[in-house]
Amino acid sequence: MPEIYDLHCHSTASDGALSPAALVERAHQQGVTALALTDHDTTAGLDEAKRSADAAGIRFISGIELSSHWQSKCLHIVGLGIDPAYVPLAEATHNLRNTRLQRAEQIALKLEKKRIPGALAAVKKMAGDSMITRTHFADFLLSQGHVLSQQEAFDRYLAKGKPAYVSTPWADMSVAIDWIIKSGGVAVLAHPLRYQLTASWLRRLLNAFKEAGGQAVEIVTGRYNAEEIKNMADYAKRFGLAGSAGSDFHSPANQYVELGRLAPLPPEIQPVWDLLTS
Ligand code: AMP
Ligand code: MN
Ligand code: MN
Ligand code: MN
Repeated sequence: MPEIYDLHCHSTASDGALSPAALVERAHQQGVTALALTDHDTTAGLDEAKRSADAAGIRFISGIELSSHWQSKCLHIVGLGIDPAYVPLAEATHNLRNTRLQRAEQIALKLEKKRIPGALAAVKKMAGDSMITRTHFADFLLSQGHVLSQQEAFDRYLAKGKPAYVSTPWADMSVAIDWIIKSGGVAVLAHPLRYQLTASWLRRLLNAFKEAGGQAVEIVTGRYNAEEIKNMADYAKRFGLAGSAGSDFHSPANQYVELGRLAPLPPEIQPVWDLLTS
């Protein structure tokens, strides 16, 4: 039986709707045989997910999705096979919790100026011990009737250039890659086609990513169509990068992105799982 991989998804440790255990359970039901949990800037869900994966008999890969900056763009770097106990990475995630809390305070102030009070208390309550993300703000705006969908919350308030956007001091891409590599992991550029880069910027990024030690790019994601998969596979070959596959699943409420429901990696691409040592 071939393995069915899903190497990018989120739990309640960041902005996912399912607990780590429930997420693993759902992945198992969907036929996934090898799963990486990659919450935003945190490894807090990994222990619970690993226990659940062991119980279900599926392979578990410790992961993270680190927010980073390159050329003033915010890019997401997925780390696969990381050791969450590696001290610089543990310190980084600890600091990122505060960074995200401070950003949340600023977002809430900006919303107050738009006559939308109460956001900070609401997102803190929603997130609990987890990372506060803009998804929590989107859910708050939705619950208060200010918008009709999460997407509208980003389009009207939270996306770059909108009234409640706050730029955040993420680590440099090369630093984030370093944390991943030195903790024993493989650095993967997440959803490269979602940054709205021109072809020449994307080439520049892939060069810089590879030079900093990045080894793979996501070629198959929950949102790419056949043309986008082919496009990314061509880039991966050209830059000598391996390919990853991950749904970026957040919630069962999203009908379009299901765990493990992914097109196969193009056969000429080296799979990132060949690079994983554990
Ligand atoms: P952040 O707290 O900035 O890391 O954002 C968390 C989540 O917001 C990301 O995982 C995305 O799923 C979502 N997101 C970011 N930008 C957008 C956007 N423009 N439209 C919809 N969702 C977005
Ligand atoms: Mn997210
Ligand atoms: Mn992302
Ligand atoms: Mn993600």
